[in-house]
Amino acid sequence: MARPEVSTVGELRRAVERGDVPHRTVHEEVRANLIQKLRAGESLFPGIIGYDDTVVPQLVNALLSRHNFILLGLRGQAKTRLMRALVTLLDAEIPVMPGCDIHDDPLNPICATCRTRLATEGDHTPIDWLERDARYVEKLATPDVTIADMVGDIDPIKAAKAGLQLSNELTMHYGLLPRANRGIFAINELPDLAGKIQVGLFNILQEGDVQIKGYPVRLPLDVLMAFTANPEDYTARGKIITPLKDRIGSEIRTHYPAGRAEAMTITAQEAWLRRGVGPETEVPAFVAEVVEEIAFQARQDRRIDKRSGVSQRLPISAMENVVSNAERRALVSGEDVAVARVTDVYAALPSITGKFEMEYEGELKGAETVAREIIRAAVANVADGYLSHLETRQVVEWFDLGGSLQLGDTMSAADVLNHAQQVQGLVDLARAAGIPKNAPAPLLASGIDFVLEGMYATKKISRSEERGYHGADAAPRRPAREPIALKDETPMPTAGGKGKKYYN
Ligand SMILES: [Zn+2]
Repeated sequence: MARPEVSTVGELRRAVERGDVPHRTVHEEVRANLIQKLRAGESLFPGIIGYDDTVVPQLVNALLSRHNFILLGLRGQAKTRLMRALVTLLDAEIPVMPGCDIHDDPLNPICATCRTRLATEGDHTPIDWLERDARYVEKLATPDVTIADMVGDIDPIKAAKAGLQLSNELTMHYGLLPRANRGIFAINELPDLAGKIQVGLFNILQEGDVQIKGYPVRLPLDVLMAFTANPEDYTARGKIITPLKDRIGSEIRTHYPAGRAEAMTITAQEAWLRRGVGPETEVPAFVAEVVEEIAFQARQDRRIDKRSGVSQRLPISAMENVVSNAERRALVSGEDVAVARVTDVYAALPSITGKFEMEYEGELKGAETVAREIIRAAVANVADGYLSHLETRQVVEWFDLGGSLQLGDTMSAADVLNHAQQVQGLVDLARAAGIPKNAPAPLLASGIDFVLEGMYATKKISRSEERGYHGADAAPRRPAREPIALKDETPMPTAGGKGKKYYN
């Protein structure tokens, strides 16, 4: 809606009467704009992937119901992003009293300054227009947040000197919540807020007043409240005061991506991959799949704390590091195109180890060891999809007969190809796994690296720092079938271990 030519309170009143400017609460405003978007078939939260059938419908219902709501979910489930997207449901601009900290409605101001001004200047009082981006306030809750931070503070001495009543807002310094008046106030990790502050929030939401330093202050605010919390914290007894919980109209559960493909779409969207300066970069599908699979493996790993979850930021920052390692290799070896390899994922450990909290058992092993094992499990899982139907015997035998191959994540593509050619069948295997016939050297090298890492991860061959890839130590040539996974065993025409999700 284009802003009508309205610059005084009198003009605004007439524009509202004509229906040119809406006059409504934030909840009504969001609801009306949402209805308009739904009617027009517009996409509601662009960039939010995988929530179309789960979170988005529930959120829409909450907003249509004019509810304050809470998003319950583990870390890295786009909760904050979703709350920020609510801004798109606000009007482009709304009329406000000029210079007012709490964005007073010119037709119904609540602060004393604005009321006095309106009484003096009447219909000639000027108004301002406030853009929607300025109407979103966000706060991470921590135990040390005070009423002064959240609601505001008054200076009793100043008030006494001025001869004002203490409840008079002229002496008040507004906190975050009043500053979000006529907008959206988002609080992350609500359970971390002290009980006393929760009571203050509740009073403002329910009664429009609050006590500050024992003095009652009247603040009938108009705010859409959105919260986030870890589900366990939220449901834990005593973490949230009951009356506040009652005022939160809807509880909406968020979740991690349901499948690898969906997760890859998110990572491709969020990770910084097109970098401008530097060599051209390319991430083969199998590398992207391994990066993504790390998060899936970590989320089901018993050594990792389920309560705090494994954020989607893990694959995103890991992917950035993977591409950087490929870039570094290309720069050092003078290649024009940086093609990521599976071994680059191990080089991305620094972007992975900080992204999960360990259980006791994991702590004993150390984050790096656990992360390496998770990467290997991820590689095995992905390699299974690419290699399980291929004939790997020739290559396995080459290593079993004592052959070894020393490669490294900094080795140029040309060197990888040179070394790989010694191993009969290895290059063919990379091609069979999907590397096109006329692929440039860096891509073929990445395919070879994937085959070797895949065979290592599925324990067909071994790898050590000193000897590189070599035959599987002290193991039968081809490991016996998995003893337990009998249920979904389907006979395969090809040799080689089949049906193994991953070992370890
Ligand atoms: Zn005001």
